[in-house]
Amino acid sequence: MTIEWEAGRLDSELEGAALDTLAVRAGQHRTPEGEHGEPLFFTSSYVFRSAAEAAARFAGEQPGNVYSRYTNPTVRIFEERIAALEGAEQAVATSSGMAAIMAVTMSLCSAGDHVLVSRSVFGSTVSLFEKYFKRFGVEVDYVPLSDLSAWEQSFKPNTKLLFVESPSNPLAELVDITALARVAHEHGALLAVDNCFCTPALQQPLALGADIVVHSATKYIDGQGRCLGGVVAGRSEQMNDVVGFLRTAGPTMSPFNAWVFLKGLETLRLRMQAHCSTAFALAEWLEQQPGIERVYYAGLPSHPQHELARRQQKGFGAVLSFEVKGGKEAAWRFIDATRLISITANLGDSKTTITHPASTTHGRLAPEERASAGINDSLIRVAVGLEDLQDLKADLSRGLAVIG
Ligand SMILES: *Cc1c(COP(=O)(O)O)cnc(C)c1O
Repeated sequence: MTIEWEAGRLDSELEGAALDTLAVRAGQHRTPEGEHGEPLFFTSSYVFRSAAEAAARFAGEQPGNVYSRYTNPTVRIFEERIAALEGAEQAVATSSGMAAIMAVTMSLCSAGDHVLVSRSVFGSTVSLFEKYFKRFGVEVDYVPLSDLSAWEQSFKPNTKLLFVESPSNPLAELVDITALARVAHEHGALLAVDNCFCTPALQQPLALGADIVVHSATKYIDGQGRCLGGVVAGRSEQMNDVVGFLRTAGPTMSPFNAWVFLKGLETLRLRMQAHCSTAFALAEWLEQQPGIERVYYAGLPSHPQHELARRQQKGFGAVLSFEVKGGKEAAWRFIDATRLISITANLGDSKTTITHPASTTHGRLAPEERASAGINDSLIRVAVGLEDLQDLKADLSRGLAVIG
């Protein structure tokens, strides 16, 4: 027997609901089938009841689906859920985190505009700006993330957009988002924040004053290393342009990936809490080890922006870095001695990963650029997963043992 549900009714009463509730329920509009789980719509196009309805849909006079490059019901649940979690008017999903960053720049900037990017952003983000956007006449300058006066001094009359990652990879540097948003707005520019490392469970950049949030959903939103995806969230004023670009250019999210990310979001805060508490314990423990020169983790009182991190974030994140005594040779020996932790550059997975940034994620930078980003040859990055703390300590102890 089929229960007659009112099609399109929001699945749940969510007025005033907290983050944990929104993460489980926001965005789901139950179909007439009465399904409890989020439905997966595998269809490239949609059928109209008449030629007149088709014409009205194409003209945008009647709401509804036309083609899955424009809208897909499963992807829409994900978009509405992210908008709810980030406190955004609107969100739009993309095929990857890089597609999200591309969509923001392509839709908001034109030839002759100037973009300020924080110096320590994700490697492919730098390549996107350097190799491609510059070719189309977008001016790009890089600013040290945490230095507000350097930001102030870098504005030009044509500065349109500021793009930052806070906390940064791999040194967990932060910027005061509220202060930077104020500076951006004083200069008539927009602030976009890549919120990949914190997720809305730990930080909501829009509530802090930013205009746009981007994510690589590939990381903690999936949380189990399965799918690539991304999302842009913000006010409708800017989002309409971003949506327009994505519908035309096509790097949209697959419905299957959206469904996987929806399942990831349901456990997001619980996972982030577990990631953070294990990372915090490992950072404290590593700081005590004789073979370790320095640990970079915003949860440690030794971190220069510990107080800002406490104020701005609900947790300190799960990516930590440390310098070993003995340079690159010791760092590689340390990494090779681990047996449990995976040697890979990915992060935001339930499996803990270890990497040598100077020869992998930051390997294509010139030595001076690496030095100015604070990444030296003895640095190791660990993205802490969900394994048992004692097992992770035991594995890192293998690394400590071989460097003496
Ligand atoms: C991984 C990552 C990206 C790019 O995301 P993809 O999904 O791999 O395209 C962007 N920003 C940050 C901070 C990332 O870690």
